[in-house]
Amino acid sequence: MLTVSRGDRQTPVRIGIVGGGQLALMMGEAAHDLPVTLSVLAASEEDPARRTIPDFLVGAATDPEALAALAARVDVITLDHELVNLEALALLASRGTPVRPHPDAVRFAADKAHQRQALAAWGLPVPRFGIVTSGDDPELAAFLAALDAPVVVKAATGGYDGRGVFFPATDTEARDIVAGLARTAVIEERLTLLGEAAQIVVRDPAGTVVAYPLVSTYQAGGTCVEVDYPACGVDAGAAAEAAALAREIADRIDAIGVLAVELFWTARGWLVNELALRPHNTGHWTIEGARTSQFANHLRAVAGLPLGPTTPTAPHITMVNVLGGPRATAAPASGPHLGVHDYAKAWRPGRKLGHVTATGPHASPTRVAAWEAARAWGTREEEPWHSSPS
Ligand code: ADP
Repeated sequence: MLTVSRGDRQTPVRIGIVGGGQLALMMGEAAHDLPVTLSVLAASEEDPARRTIPDFLVGAATDPEALAALAARVDVITLDHELVNLEALALLASRGTPVRPHPDAVRFAADKAHQRQALAAWGLPVPRFGIVTSGDDPELAAFLAALDAPVVVKAATGGYDGRGVFFPATDTEARDIVAGLARTAVIEERLTLLGEAAQIVVRDPAGTVVAYPLVSTYQAGGTCVEVDYPACGVDAGAAAEAAALAREIADRIDAIGVLAVELFWTARGWLVNELALRPHNTGHWTIEGARTSQFANHLRAVAGLPLGPTTPTAPHITMVNVLGGPRATAAPASGPHLGVHDYAKAWRPGRKLGHVTATGPHASPTRVAAWEAARAWGTREEEPWHSSPS
């Protein structure tokens, strides 16, 4: 059994992060208050984590040598994204550097086919689905015939922010998309969504799990644009079901650190969409909005430190992503009830450049404050229409 046993003030736990994006940048901010030191393996000198993590290696997240170089200087490894080399990470783990979460758990996030098959086998609620490998796969024909309703096609691996997710209008189009992907795909029923939500839990190596409150999420073109606490139109019973579902998944896959469970709210109740085993966009609100941020709790779990409280700090919280608009503009300043997070990324239309979080006593003014800040920053997105929570 591999353990990390440096969790006291004298000997900080050395954590290596694979990937230098905004999640690593925000882990770097959270690390200041914790007995940990961070090193990062980033794809380029310009990656956002450069600003907060001085021990900065440049190399590919898939390169076994670069991963070994990171492992050589840390006690434990964690991830900023899932587009990694799971075999190389498993090898590092078997050679004595704990990888938290373990690559076997990360596979549930990196491979949608693996996730759907495992959750269905455990009797957990997922959309009706099939796993197909080519346009003339008999499983594809059988699924389309049996469902006889609109479908969604998803590349099993390599997709994010709506990339690799397709909404074909006809069965022929579905077959063409599967053929064009030239790799394993998940085909599933296209659901009528009553809403989307995210449940974040954090699990430590001893199996202790803490849950953040459920939040509502809103997407545009497959990318999350807004997250609201409390979740809109969800009663206490349904919220408790979502938390229980996420806890069960965390235990079953032996997650360590943050597990984000993206959920569909449907006429059949909750269905699991996606899993992420790292701090997640739907948990950015916790920096200002919870007693312990998801970044701090992720690092705490990875380092084997006690987890912090997840209670919210305000009655209403809204997080809005800032996606590059037609022109580059500067981020507004943070205020007492407004957190502005600039990822210091080069501007590109549609690129996730940062996010803002507003906290307040009432739902509507809090949403307005978050959207005004995002618009002042020049986000390309329109505020999604949805009924006010209360
Ligand atoms: P990604 O991995 O790129 O985040 P997702 O699987 O989360 O892709 O899909 C992106 C968005 O597409 C979801 O948030 C949801 O709005 C929509 N979507 C995905 N699957 C379905 C489905 N089966 N039925 C209806 N909408 C879906």
